[in-house]
Amino acid sequence: MRIPFSPPRMDEKIINEVVDTLKSGWITTGPKTKLFEKKITDFCGHKASLCTSSGSAGLELMLRWFGVKEGDEVIIPAYTYAATANVVVHCGAKPVMADIDDSFNINPQELSKLINPKTKVIIPVDIAGKPCNYDEINKLVRKKEIQTHFVAENKNQEKLNRILILSDAAHSLGAKYKQKRTGTLTDITVFSFHAVKNLTTAEGGAICLNLPDTFDNEEVYKELNIKSLHGQTKDAFSKTKAGNWQYDIIEAGYKYNMTDIAASMGLVELDRYENDMLIKRKHIFHRYAEKLKNHKWAIIPEYKNEIFESSYHVFTLRIKDFEEEERNILIQKMQEKEISVNVHFIPLPLMSFYASLGFRIEDYPNAYAMFKNEISLPVYYDLNDKQIDFLLTHLIDSVEEILEKC
Ligand SMILES: *Cc1c(COP(=O)(O)O)cnc(C)c1O
Repeated sequence: MRIPFSPPRMDEKIINEVVDTLKSGWITTGPKTKLFEKKITDFCGHKASLCTSSGSAGLELMLRWFGVKEGDEVIIPAYTYAATANVVVHCGAKPVMADIDDSFNINPQELSKLINPKTKVIIPVDIAGKPCNYDEINKLVRKKEIQTHFVAENKNQEKLNRILILSDAAHSLGAKYKQKRTGTLTDITVFSFHAVKNLTTAEGGAICLNLPDTFDNEEVYKELNIKSLHGQTKDAFSKTKAGNWQYDIIEAGYKYNMTDIAASMGLVELDRYENDMLIKRKHIFHRYAEKLKNHKWAIIPEYKNEIFESSYHVFTLRIKDFEEEERNILIQKMQEKEISVNVHFIPLPLMSFYASLGFRIEDYPNAYAMFKNEISLPVYYDLNDKQIDFLLTHLIDSVEEILEKC
């Protein structure tokens, strides 16, 4: 029984919507992208959304919008996918890594000692779909002793007058924190719609604007729309309207727009996201948790309590007492049965590029402790109970076999 890790759900409905776009005469950014943006805004409840070509593009566009540059610092967790850090490097700024807590997310307690007058942005990451502790993070950057040290160097920084919280919610569309959805939990939230994410457009992303009232979020949307399209004052779709050929370039912008082909997949996916996709994912989490909870070696990720509910993106199981070696043997044993599992994530200090910048894993002991015995189990729409049970039987047998040898 071959079990892949996270194949996309591509059915007739998606195919028909994509074909509709292909036949419509408009395939790049146009009516479907604009409709998808509106539906994302309605679903999450923030102020405005801009769709982008990827989550990474969305994160980078926001750092550029906030004027992050050489000499600035951006705080990120040591435990995340490289995209979170790479976009900081692209801007010429310095990524500063914080250790994580026992939920895999950035530890708010670590932040205050890393903040200094160079700090412009914090990028918390909702690992595996669990929202970070946004109350603490939002409160921290508004603390008087921290806010007074913020050095505003441009118009947007002056308007915010504190550190920007840019949430990397690549995993957490639809997750809730204190009854509110991701998108509304902080200043800016960025989703990813990459092929392995909960909601996919093959490649894509969305920026959710939820800036405080010193900003006109609609105006920021317009500004970003131009910035994401080479600084051109009219997009290609508006230019097709009769007599509308003239345009200006007001800055050296980027090419980060979403296509209508991608948006058509997103429209179908979002339509059935909450009442179909999330329910299925929750069922899978629940089945894993129920069948593993009696094994005392299983450290089961928390996915719902009175404060938050996950988006059920990846099931981050940990095996008590396993070191990296045992975990790697376990992965190998699963692969021998054609069951795909994964590790989310290899901490950034273990990546040669970030090691070359001087980051050392010894400085992030909890990131290492969470990584060394983590194994991500597959969660996707078409995964059925029979496959889950087959996977679990093999997982339990393999873990017990390895533990006997220890
Ligand atoms: C997938 C991912 C991203 C980047 O998303 P893309 O759409 O692939 O650019 C960013 N951060 C995290 C944590 C991710 O897992």
